[in-house]
Amino acid sequence: MCNSLKVTTFGTRGSIPVSNPESIIYGGNTTCLRIESPCIPKEKALIVDAGSGYLPCSYRLLGEKVHDVHVLFTHYHHDHTQGLLLAPPTFIKSIKTHLYGPVDAGGVGPKEMWKTIMQPPYFPVHHKLHESHFSFHPLEFPQTQVMLVHNQGGIRMMDVDQYETLNLKDGYIPIGKGKYPKSEILVISMYMSNHPENTICYAFDEGLTGKKFVFLTDHENHDSNPNDLKNHIKGADLLVMDCQYSRLKYDSMTAGYGHGTPDYCVRTAREVGAKLLGLTHHDPNAKDLDVEGILAEAKACVPREVDVFTCRDYQEIEV
Ligand SMILES: [Zn+2]
Ligand SMILES: [Zn+2]
Repeated sequence: MCNSLKVTTFGTRGSIPVSNPESIIYGGNTTCLRIESPCIPKEKALIVDAGSGYLPCSYRLLGEKVHDVHVLFTHYHHDHTQGLLLAPPTFIKSIKTHLYGPVDAGGVGPKEMWKTIMQPPYFPVHHKLHESHFSFHPLEFPQTQVMLVHNQGGIRMMDVDQYETLNLKDGYIPIGKGKYPKSEILVISMYMSNHPENTICYAFDEGLTGKKFVFLTDHENHDSNPNDLKNHIKGADLLVMDCQYSRLKYDSMTAGYGHGTPDYCVRTAREVGAKLLGLTHHDPNAKDLDVEGILAEAKACVPREVDVFTCRDYQEIEV
């Protein structure tokens, strides 16, 4: 068990997995992160997105005898869901998989996504054969809820208003069969990012250490960041952001695609006082040298108070 908030990036590629000899350093798995914290019960795992990186991630979970996997989806583009189809927990009845995610205007949430992708002729196995050990948690109004995690109480959702009222009252929050102080809880809050589909930016606040991690992927530049977004990210010890395109490629071709640039990531990190900025969602056309070019572009505009690095597959980061 880890002593404080830790993030492992099992997939950092955007759009589609890649495999070629010039993309070895940063890897080719699509988005999947594992969040570890002493606040998480040891039989449970907390995952963000199930891109192709979810396959190696879930093999690691099998080795740890995890039997309760909670996957928070930012959204349902293929690069964030495709690992679900072949990951062992999907087929092992003794492992319960809980899917959380946004609901779009047409009513598509985690359950509809899963039923759509897991059926012939798109996939040879029908979801009905593996439904009994799945549960679905649509997040219709993510900005009005928080997810609370306690190593004895378990995991629950709560309205933000109720959570804040309890905090003001005596600071003890009911989770499972007990009541626990904020200082023992991992609080996960949500904000919508700037992307073609409803997409959630998750922020993880660990009460035990005061550490904060924010994952802002599949997010396109704002000319001016909304105050709500800045408040959501504010003070992050680690901010991982979508930085798929160079400024040149963005201006000449990819504006409106829903992804970010190095100058915008650095500006945002500086505005919210983030201590460490990680760049992710690498362009599938970018070789290692191109990814390093993106980092160099970010470093050229980085102020002294922000440290910036490039995320790579299988990287373990202590927040
Ligand atoms: Zn994506
Ligand atoms: Zn996307």
